Amino acid sequence: MWIDTHCHLDACEFAGEAEAVAARAAEQRVSWIVIPAIERANFSTVATLAAGLDNCVYALGIHPIFVPQAKEEDLAVLRTAVQAAMDDPRFVAIGEIGLDFFVPSLRDEALREKQEHFYSEQLKIARDFDLPVLLHVRRSQDIILKYLRRINVRKGIAHAFNGSFQQAEEFLTRSFKLGFGGAMTFTRALQIRRLAAELPAEGLVLETDAPDIAPAWRHPQRNAPEELPSIGQVLADLRGISVDDAARLTSGNAYSALPRLASLS
Ligand SMILES: [Zn+2]
Repeated sequence: MWIDTHCHLDACEFAGEAEAVAARAAEQRVSWIVIPAIERANFSTVATLAAGLDNCVYALGIHPIFVPQAKEEDLAVLRTAVQAAMDDPRFVAIGEIGLDFFVPSLRDEALREKQEHFYSEQLKIARDFDLPVLLHVRRSQDIILKYLRRINVRKGIAHAFNGSFQQAEEFLTRSFKLGFGGAMTFTRALQIRRLAAELPAEGLVLETDAPDIAPAWRHPQRNAPEELPSIGQVLADLRGISVDDAARLTSGNAYSALPRLASLS
């Protein structure tokens, strides 16, 4: 079995097809798909989607790219939604949250500060409810880590990991897992492939980030969670292990990063 730890199945690219997409993934032994929220407006969308699909769970959070239009009150709405979702076994994490200092429009001083505010307040919600976080980390590894230390959040996944070995070690020291997906399938992605090949086995989870980050053989088409086993094969080849071992390893790691998913299975 495989676990897609990051897939935006509610994205407009999948409109009207989410059920078929999830079913095709299930046929490829993708037993779980984690659907993160991105803004207040889609909290109920991801919850409803996961409730209707056998192999889907969800997270709640405000994505850094949606922070510019977010309102301060959205944080209180999130806290209330999380409180209510604690009774829902399909709810597994806070996410997608983080910092994006790559997108030019998000880099001015005021927006950097607003992003840090939303990130740290959402970490506090994760801490208060003892939930893992799904992190979006772009040109922001060190500040992401600084807040994890300060607020003392000790569980989660740094999705689409693209940092240094030293930064990877810091996440692993905090019991975080690192998400690898389509980017690893491009032979020119030397650093990501080296990380996937050499990092300690207990630190790795797989993801598609569908509809984005399509693997090399599908690029530039829409990505989908049914690609996860082929992405897992690339990880197996990079590490010199069998594809079954890659499936077992990454699923076990996903369960340890997402305890509520583990208890659901
Ligand atoms: Zn995402």
